[in-house]
Amino acid sequence: MTAETQNLIETLATAHSLPQSDYQRLVEAHDDEAAAFAAGLARQAAEKAYGRTVFIRGLIEISNICKNDCLYCGIRRGNAVCSRYRLTPEEILDCTREGYALGFRTFVMQGGEDSWFTDEVLCALIRKMKAVNPGCAVTLSLGERSTASYERLRAAGADRYLLRHETADPVHYGALHPREMSFEHRMNCLRTLRRLGFQTGCGFMVGSPRQTAAHIARDLKFIEEFRPHMCGIGPFIPHKDTPFRDKPAGSADLTCFLLSLIRLMHPNILLPATTALSSVEANGRERGILSGANVIMPNLSPANVRDKYMLYNNKLSSGPEAAQNLRDLKDRMDAIGYKIVVDRGDSKL
Ligand code: SAH
Repeated sequence: MTAETQNLIETLATAHSLPQSDYQRLVEAHDDEAAAFAAGLARQAAEKAYGRTVFIRGLIEISNICKNDCLYCGIRRGNAVCSRYRLTPEEILDCTREGYALGFRTFVMQGGEDSWFTDEVLCALIRKMKAVNPGCAVTLSLGERSTASYERLRAAGADRYLLRHETADPVHYGALHPREMSFEHRMNCLRTLRRLGFQTGCGFMVGSPRQTAAHIARDLKFIEEFRPHMCGIGPFIPHKDTPFRDKPAGSADLTCFLLSLIRLMHPNILLPATTALSSVEANGRERGILSGANVIMPNLSPANVRDKYMLYNNKLSSGPEAAQNLRDLKDRMDAIGYKIVVDRGDSKL
């Protein structure tokens, strides 16, 4: 680690902001020593904001039917060999009942952009979910919808919305998405979600095809300025039935370094150690937490559909990623000095 790198990390830890060019320098110059240094400061920042606690969210993958054709994604419309499924509202409610009994107080409904899930269906589901599971928070991660739809979902009681921006560079966005998808529209959705009072999460993939250090610097600057409540980042991992099948996966080391930088820029942010990170690295969740993350999202989907929500090759959904194995997760967090808490885990922003 050079003196300059150390200096930049320290500045970020105190000023919570850097020029975009300095973010780029950090991304280009990072080495193991810099990562360890940033991680130490990031852990301190997370501990000051949240204590040594880890929030858990029960992830329910409600449908892998999607109208979009994102080039990186295994459930893209153009994947003809993907075996499609859609959970019924009753099945989804059952997942939350099981999760509530296990100690989950936040449920994340994620899925492809499946038009079967109309506002009417989702609003009724959100209301029931909240009635059945007292005090729980509901997070949605269902892609781009109209402002009117987001308004209705919010009015029905949805608390949070995750919509990764995927890349803050419009040209890079165009390299990851088909022509009919719009960078401006995605960014507008994020701004709308914030304005409507959702705890809002953005995020991006690390090492996606054609991504440069300059792109990542732009992502970091965007995250700094947008001030999201949550931010999901994980390595890009190729999927065998997508145009990016032969592209290399992103790096776990760089992902962890970026987690640390994001924690330093926004000490109060909710930052998950993602499934993608643990899918490329055996102790990915532990490494994520030790880099400044404070959220883990175990899989609560019904066992018979888990293999079908295959966003990328070898996506983990069983073993340590399964919500049913919470005991194991608790032990693993204990082993690194962290406690899983039964809590909604709201943002402190
Ligand atoms: N349809 C929703 C949910 C998408 S899946 C939406 O548009 O927001 C959730 C996230 O998985 C995506 O935002 C993307 O960042 C990530 N993802 C998709 N394919 C991936 C891949 N091949 N490798 C790593 N992450 C991927």
